[in-house]
Amino acid sequence: MSRYDVIIAGAGYAGSTAARVLAENGKKVLILEKRDHIGGNAYDYIDQNQVRRHEYGPHLFHTSSKKAVEFLSRFTDWYPYEHRVLGYIEGKLVPIPFNLTSIEEIFEPEKAEHLKQVLIDTYGMETKVPILKLRENDDPDIRELAEFIYEHVFKYYTMKQWGYTVEEIDPAVTGRVPVHVSFDDRYFQDSFQQMPEEGFTPMFEKMLDHENIEVRLGVNALDHVHVSAEKGEITFEGEVFDGIFIYTGIVDELFGYCLGELPYRSLWFDVQTQEGTFQPVGTVNYPTPEKVHPYTRITEYKHMMASEGMPKTTIAVEYPFVYGKDSEKGNIPYYPVFTDESRKAYEAYVELADKVPGLYLLGRLAEYRYYNMDAITERAVSFAEELLKK
Ligand SMILES: Cc1cc2nc3c(=O)[nH]c(=O)nc-3n(C[C@H](O)[C@H](O)[C@H](O)COP(=O)(O)OP(=O)(O)OC[C@H]3O[C@@H](n4cnc5c(N)ncnc54)[C@H](O)[C@@H]3O)c2cc1C
Repeated sequence: MSRYDVIIAGAGYAGSTAARVLAENGKKVLILEKRDHIGGNAYDYIDQNQVRRHEYGPHLFHTSSKKAVEFLSRFTDWYPYEHRVLGYIEGKLVPIPFNLTSIEEIFEPEKAEHLKQVLIDTYGMETKVPILKLRENDDPDIRELAEFIYEHVFKYYTMKQWGYTVEEIDPAVTGRVPVHVSFDDRYFQDSFQQMPEEGFTPMFEKMLDHENIEVRLGVNALDHVHVSAEKGEITFEGEVFDGIFIYTGIVDELFGYCLGELPYRSLWFDVQTQEGTFQPVGTVNYPTPEKVHPYTRITEYKHMMASEGMPKTTIAVEYPFVYGKDSEKGNIPYYPVFTDESRKAYEAYVELADKVPGLYLLGRLAEYRYYNMDAITERAVSFAEELLKK
């Protein structure tokens, strides 16, 4: 019999949240984390410029989920922060998503007035209208607006982000790109938009600070835990483990890539120190062709915290990459790449996982799907509660 009831691979939102709920209900939990820190991709810290930097790209907490806020508020106070994004379009910086202010800034006054009036009259204020709908409008100026947004906001950004050619961009996705009929220039409209006051990492430290939780950092769980679909068995340090194994990493690695590698998109950040303040808002998007700006966006972390009077600033210039586990840049699996083929390949791995009693796949990597931080918190709390009922 092991000393642990539950072993968890990964100390991100999925692993840490599940661990806390299980520990509070008397389960002895061991977390094995590959990296030398907790927090998963939300990991942050104060850098040499006194700026709280997010190591794996900007993480903005926004939600309308009471359950997620209630759970996380046990481990942090909050700092009100509403994220704003500007796009570099035709040499100007205009609000993204494209809204009524963007229209005023891009088009000649008379045309802008006309576009705004038709949008408001047809769709109403505070609506988000997909460009597919705009294309169906009788007014030729509105159809032209749809084309403009596709070309200047969506097309090149998407090509850079996902490495697509124009032909590969799914028309169904294109059509969903919205114009926001509003002067609200916030990136998110959720009722709760705040950042953990001391940062994400201290919030995770408090979450994991429980007598029933042991965390080992710098440990690849798969060096200690072996899962055999053939035998339907989990072993831990050479002995059969009859407890629960919650795995939050990539599922192809869990099974030794026996059914091939799943595709992921990766990122690489060129982090720079600059004087004063670099840009007017937290993130500026560059939806320009790759040859104009080879990166997708620049984030300035200072905007996300109380930072008045700070002499220096930290920016991260974001470059998308094809993921390769042995690549020099792009060796972190950030986003699943969804294709019919990749979904089928993932499902084949799930079939293997289903043959192993006690094994659970949880989180954005293991479940091969996109979760925001609030969504994975909710999911992990519910998952752990369900597990306790078994
Ligand atoms: C660039 C980027 C920006 C984002 N911005 C936002 C945002 O603004 N707002 C928002 O709500 N969400 C955002 N997200 C999503 C957010 O990062 C996820 O919701 C969250 O990270 C999911 O947590 P997780 O625990 O599932 O995965 P992760 O955070 O990836 O945690 C998984 C952990 O498991 C560890 N691990 C993997 N394999 C093993 C192994 N074999 N052994 C031991 N440890 C292992 C990893 O090292 C990692 O620490 C963003 C994501 C990315 C990639």
